[in-house]
Amino acid sequence: MPRRILITGNWKMHGLRSDLGFFEALTPIAAKAGAEVLVCPPASLLAAAAAQCAGTEIRIGGQDCHTGQSGAHTGDVSAMMLRDAGASHVILGHSERRQEHGETSILVCAKAKAARVAGLIPIICVGETLTEREAGRAHEIVGAQLKASLPADAGAGVVIAYEPVWAIGTGLTAAAEDVASMHAFIRSQLREPAATRILYGGSVKPENAAELLALEDVDGALVGGASLQIDSFAAIVVAAKQ
Ligand code: PEP
Repeated sequence: MPRRILITGNWKMHGLRSDLGFFEALTPIAAKAGAEVLVCPPASLLAAAAAQCAGTEIRIGGQDCHTGQSGAHTGDVSAMMLRDAGASHVILGHSERRQEHGETSILVCAKAKAARVAGLIPIICVGETLTEREAGRAHEIVGAQLKASLPADAGAGVVIAYEPVWAIGTGLTAAAEDVASMHAFIRSQLREPAATRILYGGSVKPENAAELLALEDVDGALVGGASLQIDSFAAIVVAAKQ
């Protein structure tokens, strides 16, 4: 089966109820898209966004989850709760969580297991820092993150997002040949390489989306900044012709 392109918007800590009109505008674009369309709003908007997108081609996801189903964990949200609110996917191990919350790959792996138990598709993020890339260690770092973050039995039911840390929110994009080389490397490390989707993330915008999405092992994009405006996100969705 060919891998269907997946365009994912990560709203991070942006968005109020007054922004929900975004989904109305996205609905006809997603209906005609040659790609799967997923938006991960902040947890506060998840249920409202999911209700608004019911019956459309837009999927809604979370941006993180706890390893447990419920319990005394003030401020946390479980995978089961995300599912109950209408999510189908959850982003895990985003570099902002690894950096700002000290999340380790071992924790990410536990979260991925919890997500799968709850029926969510985990999108597991990996990526090297600029220092690591300049030291020639990008493949080694990403390989180690993958090995520790992916549940041992994870097959095509997980999505991988390669996000070079230095390209996130900076306007810098990795060179096409570096993206191609890293995605091929990631695929070589997977249990079900032919069926598993690998997204690229890092300053994806309408201007570079078509080139990145045309690369052989790039099966979609994880889009931060450009997913906040309907025009730019829609242009990226339209660029995914498959
Ligand atoms: C992200 O949030 O995962 C991301 C890649 O952000 P941006 O597109 O803004 O670089």
